[in-house]
Amino acid sequence: MTAFGIAPMAPDAAELPRRTLIQTLAAPDIEAQLDELATHAIGLTRAEATRSSDTPDSLLRRAGAFDPAAAAFLRNDPMGRRVLQGRAGKMVHLTADASGQVQKIVVRFPAEKVEQQSSHFTRLTIERDGMVFRARTEVAPLQAQVALGSGSIRTSLFAATDDANIPDAIASQMADMFSGDIDFHRELRKGDRFSIVYETLTADGEPINWDGGVGRLLAGEFTNNGKTYSAVYFKDSASGKASFYGFDGQSKRRAFLASPMEFSRITSGFAMRFHPILNTWRQHNGVDYGAPTGTAVRSVGDGVVEMAGWQNGFGNVVHIRHAGDRTTVYAHLSKIDVKKGQRIEQGQRLGAVGATGWATGPHLHFEFRVGGRHMDPRAIARASEAITLPNYAKAQFQQTVASVKTQLAVAETMDGVSAAD
Ligand SMILES: [Zn+2]
Repeated sequence: MTAFGIAPMAPDAAELPRRTLIQTLAAPDIEAQLDELATHAIGLTRAEATRSSDTPDSLLRRAGAFDPAAAAFLRNDPMGRRVLQGRAGKMVHLTADASGQVQKIVVRFPAEKVEQQSSHFTRLTIERDGMVFRARTEVAPLQAQVALGSGSIRTSLFAATDDANIPDAIASQMADMFSGDIDFHRELRKGDRFSIVYETLTADGEPINWDGGVGRLLAGEFTNNGKTYSAVYFKDSASGKASFYGFDGQSKRRAFLASPMEFSRITSGFAMRFHPILNTWRQHNGVDYGAPTGTAVRSVGDGVVEMAGWQNGFGNVVHIRHAGDRTTVYAHLSKIDVKKGQRIEQGQRLGAVGATGWATGPHLHFEFRVGGRHMDPRAIARASEAITLPNYAKAQFQQTVASVKTQLAVAETMDGVSAAD
């Protein structure tokens, strides 16, 4: 819990240095502020988040207020009711006087319009006015701030990002950013390191905590098994298209993803507990991914569904045909979401992990074939053709890279804090 004092601390204002007063007077609504200060001898503001189990009384109590009139307002007024309506996790700042009487409640939550939610928030203000409460809502812009983070892998990617206080959504964006370079399910090594630059969004200066409130990953470097990969978010101002690029100007988008499953806290945790059959792709023509039944399986590239159904040994299986006489195979599925002949895009869901056919436990068996011959899927993803930045965008791109390199260098120095062991 956070507490902010807003009370006039000195009763003898005459003793305050003049400069302080001048600065205070610069505030635009000084009349209102003075009124408020005169009315409330002591005001204490507390920050809280609404919970799904909250009633008006429990919320007020947690925020340090005891006020039946305010509770009634939150229960009965159409605008007051919005505080506890819908999703929990709204940010509440409540100011109460010494007796616990509510003076003001400011509540911040996602903007109503979906298309505004990544850029704006709703601010609901409830103020005591004598015996009644008045409420109003505004839509205000979120502020973006740049944050730096770095870490090294000891047990899992999410353990490392937790240590560095990096939100899960940014960790997932990082796995996506390098998804053409690193198969995070199979190739993470103890001692791998990363540095990232990302955006955090704040509402009235406070980091927001609701879904979709996380900003964008702007740049990163990842050292996996001794090899360093870099990437930067770049928006080509001429075409307006944004994508991740390596510092060399090569697009991070490849013809094939390194992994047929999105990297998440769930799949990463499972992989640590469940040890798939320790064969190499040579011994059984594929790669096995341990994951809970029901985990989404995605196509690693654009293509057409060549087969979707049951095959002995494979159980429920999907074959996708890609350009260049290449085929990928996804076996032991618990569910198939595509039909034979259907077009499918890279990253599109085709089914879910299961244990159908000859499988000792839930896992995905994945194969890559070129001209009917089995190939190592990881080698294929790396070799697949990348797209290069157009010439006209190169100068703008070089500037972006130069500035993120400086930020990443700073981020790297922060790692000393978490890598003390
Ligand atoms: Zn297998």
